[in-house]
Amino acid sequence: MTQSAQPAPPITPPVPQPESDYYWEKCKAHELWLRHCKSCDTSYFYPRDICPECFSRDTDWIQSSGKGIVHTFCIVHRGPIPAFRDKVPYMPAIIELEEGARIVTNLVEVEPDPTVIKIGMAVEVVFEDMDDKISLPKFRPVS
Ligand SMILES: [Zn+2]
Repeated sequence: MTQSAQPAPPITPPVPQPESDYYWEKCKAHELWLRHCKSCDTSYFYPRDICPECFSRDTDWIQSSGKGIVHTFCIVHRGPIPAFRDKVPYMPAIIELEEGARIVTNLVEVEPDPTVIKIGMAVEVVFEDMDDKISLPKFRPVS
């Protein structure tokens, strides 16, 4: 079997939904915003109107500092679908933000080396402009 010489297909951008329109607008402005429950004072991700902790609808938006720590990560060496074939190695991660919410993202600007990336490592958000509508929040080590 020979490997395909065709270029990898493009990565499909996220599709904003009514509950996440504001989140994506702020990401486009390179700001990270989270949903916050006023009933139980919990910040959470992904954006949705109902609090996942207490099911209250008394929620609003807060701006994140964009700072947090690595909760967990992995290093992908083989793209699971053709669109990611040329992106390896990449580093999916869950970041625990200062506000308490955990966000699924990717680590960037760091060597894909498990002896370099550490659980609890301080990171900060950076934005990758995917197209004219979507900017993805990613995280790099705090220098
Ligand atoms: Zn709540």
